[in-house]
Amino acid sequence: MCDYEGRDFGASYIDSCCIDGYLWDLDSCDEPGGPLFDGGDMPCPKCNTLEYLERAKEEAESCVSGSVAGSSGGFAYTGESIWLASVKKAESLNPDAAAAALQKMGVVETLFPGGGPDGCAVQRYIYCGESK
Ligand SMILES: [Zn+2]
Repeated sequence: MCDYEGRDFGASYIDSCCIDGYLWDLDSCDEPGGPLFDGGDMPCPKCNTLEYLERAKEEAESCVSGSVAGSSGGFAYTGESIWLASVKKAESLNPDAAAAALQKMGVVETLFPGGGPDGCAVQRYIYCGESK
């Protein structure tokens, strides 16, 4: 458990906290300070950085694009933007763990809409190794 707090459940205020490396929705309790009912699936970007980035990689490599409707206007995303936003978040919260995780993961092939046969293109990010 760390002191991470963020906006990961769609609210415009702080609505997530970290319990044992996973994020929980602070709005999912019946009473202030009571037990939380919703969460436990999202790895914490701060203290569970490797798993957080692995999850983001999976998403970035399988999802081409989409959009989210939100109270603050919503936004559109691509696999590539998911990845870049996740890396940025991890690096700002835990630079050392983020660097180690990226090194370990090596190559990430993110998707975005493009001119390929399936209507998508691949942007490859390479993190492993110094130049050989
Ligand atoms: Zn945490």
